[in-house]
Amino acid sequence: MGVDPARDTLVRKGVFGSEMWTAEMKKRIAETWDMDVYDIYGFTELCGPGAANDCYVHDGLHLWEDHFYVEVIDPKTGEPVEPEEKGELVFTTLTKEAAPVIRYRSRDMSFLMDADSCDCGRTHRKLGYITGRVDDMIKVSGVAVWPSAVEAVLLKHGELGSEYQIVVWREKGLDRLKDR
Ligand SMILES: [Zn+2]
Repeated sequence: MGVDPARDTLVRKGVFGSEMWTAEMKKRIAETWDMDVYDIYGFTELCGPGAANDCYVHDGLHLWEDHFYVEVIDPKTGEPVEPEEKGELVFTTLTKEAAPVIRYRSRDMSFLMDADSCDCGRTHRKLGYITGRVDDMIKVSGVAVWPSAVEAVLLKHGELGSEYQIVVWREKGLDRLKDR
């Protein structure tokens, strides 16, 4: 329709959540709209969006630790992993009444950052950006493939859109993968 969001609108900040998105997708939205892009995380069982938020430093999501306790575990064994190590986020609500959750497995994959402060001044621990869901991962010839890795590569090419489909099939006993 000939509208250039960066030139023709005054929207300069946006808060986006609900789906996993890559740094490349953020960059594309930021450039298309000339916008500062913020990530927001949450899900219905916690409080909806807002359990963890990006700050202007844009280096992870501050978890509101006064309301939520997070653990990061190996999704296969249930054992805790170290800070900075990727795993499944598990939440316990600390203040929620009526429908609290205890050690609720989110199926979302990320990691807990080691730093206890941020240049924005906040001291709430930060989570890495969500990279996918436990059940998103596909195994192709024994190699773990995350759709977010495919998205990251596709979006490096400005001429390509942001929608994609990954097709995996077996041919003569070998896994094959194609994205389109
Ligand atoms: Zn911060």
